[in-house]
Formats: sequence, structure tokens, C-alpha cells
Amino acid sequence: PTVVEVRNVSKRYGVQGGKRSDASVTQALDRVSFAVGSGEFVGIMGPSGSGKSTLLNCLATIDAPTSGQIVVDGRDVTALRGRELSAFRRDELGFVFQDANLLDTLTAYENIALALTIQKVPARDTDARVRAAAAQLGIADVLGKHPYQMSGGQKQRVAAARATVTNPSLVLADEPTGALDSKSAVQLLESLAYLNELGSTILMVTHDATSASYCGRIVFIKDGRLYGELRRQGAARSV
Ligand code: ADP
Ligand code: ADP
Repeated sequence: PTVVEVRNVSKRYGVQGGKRSDASVTQALDRVSFAVGSGEFVGIMGPSGSGKSTLLNCLATIDAPTSGQIVVDGRDVTALRGRELSAFRRDELGFVFQDANLLDTLTAYENIALALTIQKVPARDTDARVRAAAAQLGIADVLGKHPYQMSGGQKQRVAAARATVTNPSLVLADEPTGALDSKSAVQLLESLAYLNELGSTILMVTHDATSASYCGRIVFIKDGRLYGELRRQGAARSV
């Protein structure tokens, strides 16, 4: 089944009231279309300024396309507003950004558990789910620590646990290894690949070859347009 359908999405920045003749208008996305199936691990690659973050932000409902549709699990998310939009973000999406953005006053355990509290998951189910997510990401031993006591790689894996503990339909990652040394980057990628094997659908913006080697499919973007796609046989997971 299809989880994401991007249909003819365009994004122009600097558009005032629909006027398009202004020289200051940037066409960040130009009629982009592609689909992501359930259980895929898709990479989005392209040069700086090509529109990758804009595309991810539109998928994340942080930004809205100027035209076109983004359908997630059969729903046009560009049409969601207010409470429906909040519920969609909370229940259907998981985010992993370049910086982990953990809450410093909370332990790793509490950071992960918070995602479930916000979802109003009963407290009796929370502990098992937090521990299962932590075990999947190899961070069971840091659950009692605060972010300032953890390495960058550990923090990113806590962020990945927080993003997936809610079982979202789609995990969006924007250069999640961007701030990591190569060993931590590989650990995070192995963890994402494992989550993908367990069924998570992942869409990851990246510009490095190591990250790309973990994706089952790579979509290339340049000047706001899709210009190619690469399918890989069995992505490069080392264990
Ligand atoms: P990438 O993530 O591939 O580096 P972006 O999506 O950040 O590319 O940017 C695509 C284009 O849109 C660039 O020309 C960028 O300058 C422009 N852009 C991005 N965000 C904005 C914004 N908020 N306002 C105006 N222009 C923007
Ligand atoms: P560490 O073994 O890293 O020193 P702590 O002694 O700080 O861990 O924590 C002991 C246990 O409590 C750990 O297993 C940790 O996962 C768990 N833990 C930490 N914070 C919480 C919390 N808010 N609620 C439940 N368990 C927690």
C-alpha cells in the first residue's frame, strides 16, 4: 500500500496574493510527484538549495505547497487545519532532525515517554513501549541520563526512539547524521535500517553517500525538480 503520494507539488517563496511576476520569487519546488510505499526507506538527495528541505517541510506540514497535493495514508494533508492538523502531526508523523532537540531537563526515558503522554497513551503501557523502543535503538543503558550526559550519537538515537515510539505512519528525517562523527552516523543509520526492517516507512533527506547506501530507493532533486530515481537491491545494512 501507498503511504505517501506527492502530487504535482510546487512551492514558490515570495508570492504575494498569487502574483507571480515579481523577480524576487523563488520556485523552490516545481511540479514534484512521487509516491512512497509502506515499509520503504527512501532517500532524497540533491545539491544545496535544490528544494530538499522545502519538500520535507511540506511533508511535515510545517510548510504548505503553493499548489499540488500531499496525500498521507489516503488523506490530503494540505487540506488539514487546526485540531485535525495537530492530531495528524502527533499520530501519523515522526521527526528526526539534524539536532536531536531533546528537552534538557528530562531524562532520555522521559523524553521518549513524553511522546506517548501527549498521545494520551495509558501510563500502564508507556513503560513497556519506551523500553522496547530504546532496546530497538540500542540505548537501553542511557535511559536514566540527561541529554547533556549523552554523546551526539546517543542523543540522535533517543530522538529516533521518540520519533518511532508512537508507531507513526511515516518517519521524516532531515540530515539526521549531519552533526555526527562517522561512527555515530553509522550507528544511527543501522538503527534506522532496523526500524525500517520492523516496518517503519522512512523518508530521509541526505547529501552523503553513507546515508544513501542505507536507502532502498533514492529520489534526486535539482532546481526544485525531480530528475531521477535509483532503486537499490537490499540496502547496505552490515549486521
Ligand atoms: P535544500 O534543502 O535542498 O538546500 P531548500 O528547500 O532549503 O533547499 O531551498 C530551496 C530554494 O528555496 C532555495 O533557493 C532557497 O533559497 C529558497 N528558500 C528556502 N526557504 C525559503 C524561505 N523561507 N523564503 C524564501 N526562499 C526560501
Ligand atoms: P543509569 O543506569 O543510567 O545510572 P538511573 O540510575 O538514572 O540510570 O536510572 C535507573 C533506571 O530508571 C534506568 O533503567 C532508567 O531507564 C530508568 N528511568 C530513568 N528515568 C525514568 C523515569 N522518569 N521513569 C521511569 N524510569 C526511569
